[in-house]
Amino acid sequence: MLPKAKKKFGQHFLTDRHYIERIVNAIAPMPDDVMIEIGPGPGALTAPLLDRLKHLHAVEIDRDLASALRARFAAEKFTLHACDVLEFDFAPLGPRFRCVGNLPYNISTPFLFHLASYESTLIDGTFMLQKEVVDRMVAAPDTEAYGRLSVMLQYRFAMKRIFDVPPGAFTPPPKVNSAIVRMMPLPTDRMRARDDAHFAAIVTAGFGQRRKTLSNTLKPYLPAAAIEALGIDPKRRAETLSLEEFIRLADVSVAAI
Ligand code: SAM
Repeated sequence: MLPKAKKKFGQHFLTDRHYIERIVNAIAPMPDDVMIEIGPGPGALTAPLLDRLKHLHAVEIDRDLASALRARFAAEKFTLHACDVLEFDFAPLGPRFRCVGNLPYNISTPFLFHLASYESTLIDGTFMLQKEVVDRMVAAPDTEAYGRLSVMLQYRFAMKRIFDVPPGAFTPPPKVNSAIVRMMPLPTDRMRARDDAHFAAIVTAGFGQRRKTLSNTLKPYLPAAAIEALGIDPKRRAETLSLEEFIRLADVSVAAI
């Protein structure tokens, strides 16, 4: 029997066998993978993942679910970290790990930013998220969904929407549609800003007031003339800028500091 879902932990448990199988197939676990599942809950994905893996790590904040999982799966095959994933240190997993999960939607953005800091050791991440968040992750410039999350993640990862999952696949059903997305770190010779923290600051400032022009939002960093000198019209808005244009703006303004 399914445990009672706790709202505060964003619990919606996958119960549709068809979708569970499709998600595990999309993850395509190989026996020796070093894999960690976020929010295993009652174990809908955990059990079929363990059928294919020699070992699985998992992070679960709900202590009741954590003890049920420990009782169900053998400790040699399954290591459960009972804690908040936003505080979890992925470094002990080693230089090449994979991350999967049906994420609690209330923490998806902070979780993605936290995971992004492990880009150099992450092989890939395959996640179920609110469809609207996946739309933002994969969005192209000049579209409604394009924003800070799109730019900050596309700076580090190639992103692929895999398929959508309807509310009826969960118990209780969420109010929104969900989607599966895969993120893979870009090669180390990808386009990079000179200073990651400054790049993040420029992106945040740009999207801070979405409807305002760059000459306004970037005023603390760059005069309009310097934006224009890059061949970028200062009357444009952040939502029209490509990743490469954000990098150029960041690099010229970091040089001016
Ligand atoms: N994987 C299960 C499934 O598909 O049925 C459960 C998915 S449910 C949407 C999200 C899970 O993440 C829950 O088990 C919840 O307790 C757990 N969770 C919520 N917040 C968390 C956090 N901050 N750290 C770790 N786990 C969390």
